[in-house]
Amino acid sequence: MNSSSSVARTLSSKNPKLLFLETCSNLIQLKLIHAYMIRASLIHDVFAASRLLTFFTKLEEPNSNSLCYAQRIFSQIQNPNLFIYNSMIRIYSTSNNPQHSLQFFNKLQHQNLIPDNLTFPFLVKSCTQFASLETGRQIHCQIIRFGFDPDIYVQNSLVHMYATCGDMGTASRIFCLISQLDAVSWTSMIAGFSKCGNVESARRMFDRMPERNIVTWSTMIIGYARKGYFEKAVDLFRIMQSDNVMANETVMATVISSCAHLGVLEQGERAHDYVMRNNLTVNMILGTSLVDMYSRCGNIHKAIRVFKELPERDVLSWTTAITGLAMHGYAERSLKYFSHMVRMGLTPRDITFTAVLSACSRGGLVERGFELFESMRKDYGIDPRLEHYGCMVDLLGRAGKLDEAERFILEMPIKPSSPIWGALLGACRIHKNAVIGERVGKILMQLEPGHSGYYVLLSNIYARADRWDDVMDLREVMKEKGVKKLPGYSLIEMDGSVHRFIVGDRSHPEIEKIEAMWEEIVEKIRDVGYEGNTSDVLFDIDEEEKETALRRHSEKLAIAFGLMRTGPRTTIRIVKNLRVCEDCHTATKLVSKMFDREMIVRDRNRFHHFRGGTCSCMDYW
Ligand code: ZN
Ligand code: ZN
Repeated sequence: MNSSSSVARTLSSKNPKLLFLETCSNLIQLKLIHAYMIRASLIHDVFAASRLLTFFTKLEEPNSNSLCYAQRIFSQIQNPNLFIYNSMIRIYSTSNNPQHSLQFFNKLQHQNLIPDNLTFPFLVKSCTQFASLETGRQIHCQIIRFGFDPDIYVQNSLVHMYATCGDMGTASRIFCLISQLDAVSWTSMIAGFSKCGNVESARRMFDRMPERNIVTWSTMIIGYARKGYFEKAVDLFRIMQSDNVMANETVMATVISSCAHLGVLEQGERAHDYVMRNNLTVNMILGTSLVDMYSRCGNIHKAIRVFKELPERDVLSWTTAITGLAMHGYAERSLKYFSHMVRMGLTPRDITFTAVLSACSRGGLVERGFELFESMRKDYGIDPRLEHYGCMVDLLGRAGKLDEAERFILEMPIKPSSPIWGALLGACRIHKNAVIGERVGKILMQLEPGHSGYYVLLSNIYARADRWDDVMDLREVMKEKGVKKLPGYSLIEMDGSVHRFIVGDRSHPEIEKIEAMWEEIVEKIRDVGYEGNTSDVLFDIDEEEKETALRRHSEKLAIAFGLMRTGPRTTIRIVKNLRVCEDCHTATKLVSKMFDREMIVRDRNRFHHFRGGTCSCMDYW
């Protein structure tokens, strides 16, 4: 290098225009210098040509124009040296065609040139770019062959490559050998572990890392959220704040959508507050996540307010607002938003249609639903997918058109999935149609013999038709097949912490008080007609979770706890993982009347707003 830079000086002193190369900042300037070099016959000088290429290695992401130009310069060099090959490998390593780096590596070997320590990090980077573990391993062999494996740049690049390609075993082995670990290596390990779903190892790495930067924090937080560990993602954000690390927009969008999944309004509000206090840019992703969070945490009015204040709105943000309105039972308004969006010139996407179709279904708007369903293909060229067909079955089912719904399924051009049959089975339960219900239930049991929800639905249907023998038989079949149950749970947020009630679990420190409170509640709502279903029928709709005094449905405990701990007229918000059962639904309606409380329950499918003895779902869910 030293000898070549002295050559550069001699060459540049003879040709002062070459000095411009060092400060050249765009392709036009470069072309001028190149033209000069051709005129002065300098272009045949390997060193001068290599200075031209250096310009391209500094580009962060060379476009096809630049790549073409670099390629042309290269092809005019008669005997390229290693420096030139290294430059080409490096140029392609950040391009859209990282594979080309390998071609230059092969060529240099054909020229009997020996690669050096600068050749490999970029070659490995190329393999990382196109995520080819196989090629990466071959390059690793070459590294060992040429004796560059102890080089720390090479090692760090290998860790990054193996971690990105998902070979965490090899990545860890090399990681342990490195004497000077750079931040990229640590972060690659954390990213690699979380990408393959091993968030525990990712967290161990994260805790061991000497100095964490914003990239590391966001990798870990995003890793948790991807794996569905939303509580951990939110917790880590709290630790990040106490470490005085400033969050960026990406982290906040992840934290806010984690709050949305959890249904924790207070923490979501705090995250929103953080965004405003720190003047973060409410970009489209962050803005949409805020709308989604308020909507899914049960505050649709705030969601719409935030939506209206967004500096810009794309199809996704509109769709989020439309979905929110539909989920909360505002069918007409949801459709109005849809028309507004179309008038603004935005093209609805398939998920937008899922939202409006479910609005129609919830609002009982059969005709409008069919119009939209037709318009999907006709006006927008979108082929309906299973979820759209599901919405249509739901639409017909809710409206009591069970025969039509069954025919609709049988005439579908794609194979109906079990959720589609499930939607019809649900409708049979509501409309007490045991004949179609039985037919559909049998199809479902064949399609998904291990799914307890369908057995329970059918068993509910039999019970309502007083067919107790069939109920018993079905119970036997479930036992025989060992159908797994998913325990029901409910969450309620109180003073910043989340309380989780799981059916049959009495580990809450105040459980005795809470149970006593529920008994008091029952006394009070009995006066207005609550019977407290004690028959065998009482299951959570999705799963077989029979209710007895000890295995009381979790939302009842959450309601009791909410009434105990909040002041009069405070809205109580509960998130339940399964669909609410009829008994809990009736009880909650009566509680909202007798205690004059608004209660918002998010179940697996929708929101129920209980107020003054009625529910926004109009008893259809
Ligand atoms: Zn229940
Ligand atoms: Zn309801």
